[in-house]
Amino acid sequence: MDYIVVGLGLAGLAFTKELEKNKKSYLVFEDHSQNSSLVAGGVYNPVVLKRFTPVWNATEQLDIALPFYEDLEIQFNRKYDYPIDIYRIFKSVEEQNNWFAACDNPVLSNFMSTKLIKEKHECVLADFGYGKLLNTGRIDTKTLLEDYRNYLLKKKLVRNESFQYSELKITENGVEYKGVIASKIVFCEGFGLKNNPYFKELPMQEAKGELITIHAPNLNIDFMIKSAAFVLPLGNNLYKIGATFNWKDKTQLPTEEGKNELTAKLETFITVPYEIVEHESGIRPTVKDRRPLVGKHPKHQNLAVLNGLGTRGVMIAPSIAKALYDHLENGIALDEEISIARFL
Ligand SMILES: Cc1cc2nc3c(=O)[nH]c(=O)nc-3n(C[C@H](O)[C@H](O)[C@H](O)COP(=O)(O)OP(=O)(O)OC[C@H]3O[C@@H](n4cnc5c(N)ncnc54)[C@H](O)[C@@H]3O)c2cc1C
Repeated sequence: MDYIVVGLGLAGLAFTKELEKNKKSYLVFEDHSQNSSLVAGGVYNPVVLKRFTPVWNATEQLDIALPFYEDLEIQFNRKYDYPIDIYRIFKSVEEQNNWFAACDNPVLSNFMSTKLIKEKHECVLADFGYGKLLNTGRIDTKTLLEDYRNYLLKKKLVRNESFQYSELKITENGVEYKGVIASKIVFCEGFGLKNNPYFKELPMQEAKGELITIHAPNLNIDFMIKSAAFVLPLGNNLYKIGATFNWKDKTQLPTEEGKNELTAKLETFITVPYEIVEHESGIRPTVKDRRPLVGKHPKHQNLAVLNGLGTRGVMIAPSIAKALYDHLENGIALDEEISIARFL
């Protein structure tokens, strides 16, 4: 076969879609050891909401990502993309001014409303009003990945097992793993990269994140709020609240500390009672220089990595999967910013 793919999070999904599109044969290994893509808020937003600056390459990424998710909606006849405006609560007049200055940036003008939003929402504290982001949204990554995994299971293209690195044989023309012979192998393990003897030296600075889901019947908002935390409406009076950043804890488990941090932040701007109905966590595969990790192993050219999606996997995955495919199959050079050659 053409490819073995290790890991079926957003990176693995995006790469196998690329393989399908190009009629390549493949087999995926997935062991459920990581769940960043499953718990993710799934938000796509091209503006850094702390500083009102553009996210790296955001426009180019969205141009590829939105049709990519639309194709999947058609393939599975299910909705995954939920467009939603984001309201950024201003803390001061100075922040308002910074927002309007940023609106002049040609990259951001498509996404930032130049009006100061003064709408009153009974349950939200926003004395200085809001800045509104347009053309933003949420991908329901959990439903998408479940549908995709079921589809691969039916076609016998995924094995629910842990990939054992010690069993991988590198041959003259490719690789062999437990009797499966393939031309190439692509590793998409998220934070699981740390166990991969071929790529574990890459400078991943994983960041654990926790989220809670609340039931708040009186909140009544149909836009996303960004303040000390984000509030993301899911429908049926449910809202996702996130997310923490913890650079030390390498476990997948939700913690009391994470939950308390989120509720304390939430209560600085939301005044209604709520009940916590879910608490989840995952590890974001972030990189020292905040750019993805893409490319071939310097010595073993049939081994490649697709990782480092960081805090923005939804926007980044489709374009870097395409870049890796074009690199491996068509010899197109990778952009220096994403190539792992920058660390080797
Ligand atoms: C709390 C939180 C909130 C987030 N919110 C957002 C957001 O709003 N928007 C956004 O764009 N991004 C968000 N992210 C980031 C996003 O989730 C990541 O960028 C993205 O999911 C990473 O995808 P991945 O496929 O690289 O890794 P993962 O999702 O970790 O997938 C790796 C897969 O590889 C499998 N695997 C690993 N090792 C092995 C092995 N040896 N054998 C077999 N399988 C293996 C794992 O089980 C896993 O399924 C958030 C992340 C967190 C944690």
